[in-house]
Amino acid sequence: MSFRENLIEAAIAGREAPAINAVAKTEGMRSDYLLKQVATGRVVIMQRDGKPPLGIGGGLRTKVNANIGTSTDVFDPDKEVEKARIAEKYGADTVTDLSMGGPTDDILRRISEATSTPLTTVPIYQTVAQKGSFESITERDLVQTIRKHVGAGISSIVVHAAFTFDMLEELKDAKRIMGMVSKGGSFTSAWMLQKGEENPFLTLFDEICGILAKRDVVLSLGNTMRSGCIHDLMDGLQVKELEMNADLARKANELGVQVVIEGMGGHVSPDRIPDYVAQYKKKTDFRPLFVAGPLPIDIGVGYDHISGCVGGAIAAGAGADYLCYITPSEHLALPNAGQVREGVVAFKIAAHIGDTLKYGPRPEDKMLARYRKERDWVNQFKFAIDGEKAIETYTQNGTGTCSMCGKYCAIAIMENYLK
Ligand code: SF4
Repeated sequence: MSFRENLIEAAIAGREAPAINAVAKTEGMRSDYLLKQVATGRVVIMQRDGKPPLGIGGGLRTKVNANIGTSTDVFDPDKEVEKARIAEKYGADTVTDLSMGGPTDDILRRISEATSTPLTTVPIYQTVAQKGSFESITERDLVQTIRKHVGAGISSIVVHAAFTFDMLEELKDAKRIMGMVSKGGSFTSAWMLQKGEENPFLTLFDEICGILAKRDVVLSLGNTMRSGCIHDLMDGLQVKELEMNADLARKANELGVQVVIEGMGGHVSPDRIPDYVAQYKKKTDFRPLFVAGPLPIDIGVGYDHISGCVGGAIAAGAGADYLCYITPSEHLALPNAGQVREGVVAFKIAAHIGDTLKYGPRPEDKMLARYRKERDWVNQFKFAIDGEKAIETYTQNGTGTCSMCGKYCAIAIMENYLK
């Protein structure tokens, strides 16, 4: 295990850190500015031993996460490793291993070996998978899984700490169609209700922060109370969780832990997305906001990567920093490798649209347009988000050029007449 510098402590002390300098270079910004962003918690930098660090937060390019991992019903480790490779190949900035079936320790190790992006886990998933019941899990088991994952070199963990027993009581009477849809949140809630005890991640919060700070592992504060359909609006429970997450984030930063706020995601009517993002950013002192989707409609089943791309683009444009992809198999099945690719590409498009809204038209679009004007297909495809797909389509009719208009290509005609 190699040494990882605690970046928030370095940034608060105003000390130059190689990982911060590396991210500043990749993002094309000044190191001293980025140092201040890290010091105030507005940017996190995820580290993986021997791999490039990744920055997420205000002023940086919008990032995309791909969830992969076995389920209890489908658990072929080789396929998950392949999906992780595909996710990285098509541009996922981070990969999260959510494995719950098969040899989960081994799968995490193999995914780690196969990828170079930052890697995240949700330790309660693996604890539940390995113990087999909520009843048999102790607080020590949860801490032990966190220690194990940190020891395995992951970059970030997710815990669902920002809700209490009282909030679960409130949920029983909440006017929601979908109730609770967060998997990690439901596991945590089931544990609490089974044992009649308070949220373990809340009671263990300081201890968990101590473990993470030593290896500079980013804490992602989960979003248990998110809405599960667009008719479930932001309610008191969501606001309470947001406020608790904001307080926990401040505390974690004080304890030397970088924090991402998960929120706003799930299913959100498109007219509300910008306002919800603004509320999350403001209440969390503009800490990095991680959004799952969101899906702006519920009826796109089978095409949820497209619905999610639209929701993600609106959210990123409004200030979300980090998008969790959605695949075409959302709500239907564990995705296959092709669906992982489609999900990643859809969310790279969402992130790029978001960055265009946040920062103005991007230079890649200008380059592609110039090569398109010249009908320079080879160079054009270098700037495409999925150049491979563009080549496959370009060659599908075997005409040797774009067969859409054939000899009546508008660009060629006007070039000829305006010569
Ligand atoms: S043939 Fe038509 S679609 Fe193809 S490049 Fe020319 S104008 Fe565009």
